[in-house]
Amino acid sequence: MTKNISVLGSTGSIGVQTLDVARMHGIKVSALTANTSIELLERQAREFKPDIVGVLDENAGKKLKIALSDTNIKVISGKTGVIAAAQYEKADTVVNAIVGVAGLLPTLSAIEAKKNLALANKETLVAGGSIVMNEIKKVGIKLYPVDSEHSAIFQCLQGCPENSLKKVILTASGGSFFGKSRDELKNVTVENALKHPNWSMGKKITIDSATMMNKGLEVIEASWLFDVEDKDIDVLIHRESIIHSMIQLNDNAVIAQLGTADMRIPIQYALTYPERLPSPAKELDLAEIAGLSFAKPDYETFKCLSLCREALRKGGIYPTVANAANEVAVQMFLGEKIGFLDIAEIVEKALSEVNFDKEDITLDDILQADKETRMKFGR
Ligand code: NAD
Ligand code: MG
Repeated sequence: MTKNISVLGSTGSIGVQTLDVARMHGIKVSALTANTSIELLERQAREFKPDIVGVLDENAGKKLKIALSDTNIKVISGKTGVIAAAQYEKADTVVNAIVGVAGLLPTLSAIEAKKNLALANKETLVAGGSIVMNEIKKVGIKLYPVDSEHSAIFQCLQGCPENSLKKVILTASGGSFFGKSRDELKNVTVENALKHPNWSMGKKITIDSATMMNKGLEVIEASWLFDVEDKDIDVLIHRESIIHSMIQLNDNAVIAQLGTADMRIPIQYALTYPERLPSPAKELDLAEIAGLSFAKPDYETFKCLSLCREALRKGGIYPTVANAANEVAVQMFLGEKIGFLDIAEIVEKALSEVNFDKEDITLDDILQADKETRMKFGR
């Protein structure tokens, strides 16, 4: 079990819940980082007394340094601060709860420093899966999924013999706009898109859930984590978010993991594996829920899901480009510069313009593709 963690992105939705788990189980927190939200970061630093705090934003870093000048906590600004936290010597596990591809280099830094990883930052695997998985193999650290679906699959796999997995079945709530037609989606607002039926999460992932890009990213994430191809990953709409995902084994037995929609369960499992400790999450009452429903996803209306599957099949830098285009498109949608349906259009256009057929991609290829896509499609 993890004894000492560094939390990257500690002021976000996953970061805050990670600190809840650490508080409950007395897990020492020796490093914290965030981009902004300085007041919250200061409160976290005073409570958990880490040795170092990294702040990406230089100005925010200066302010925090002054605010914490009565303590022994070292504040490091800029990218150096994030990397210092990812490699902090006392931590045995790094929780990566940064949002977006900005989490990729910190992930690689943590692996280089031989830290185990509790990975919430799915964009790390979408954009740089081949590099990350290779480095993990070389260094021999453990990678524990935090994303609820992937944690569910990881939990279901416990005790299954190697090579017994036939397919994974990722469940999807369907997001804020399940059942809507393209026509109905034309004029939806940011406020509507941010109303997720079951989960309270950061803005980017909530929009990704509404477009179903999130499930597309998760298909790619699952392919790296569990070594499965696109054809062996099913997506199943399950509005209630009670079954967090399932696996089907060679004999067609299906195993599911259920629970209330509370990210502290998968976060805790990633930190306490293989132990099962008490959790602040509520008990599941299936009699009260009474029914669980399932449906096929609508791949025509929610094009991002099919675009991610296509990117996964093509491999190389396609997933990196799909992710980068989506990141800039979501920012533009949140800034009310584009409409909801434009998000998928931008991802589609970016993928159609990829001109790259090298089989073995390098980290530089990934960073370059990410940067070029952002420059081309962001405004
Ligand atoms: P969030 O926006 O709530 O928090 C992001 C955190 O990262 C904040 O602390 C922010 O300050 C920090 N940050 C942002 N940009 C950064 C940068 N460039 N460098 C360093 N730090 C930076 O996001 P979230 O909802 O907590 O999601 C975090 C990750 O976890 C995402 O990859 C998301 O897809 C994944 N995830 C989230 C949930 C959830 O319930 N929120 C569930 C599954 C997976
Ligand atoms: Mg998920």
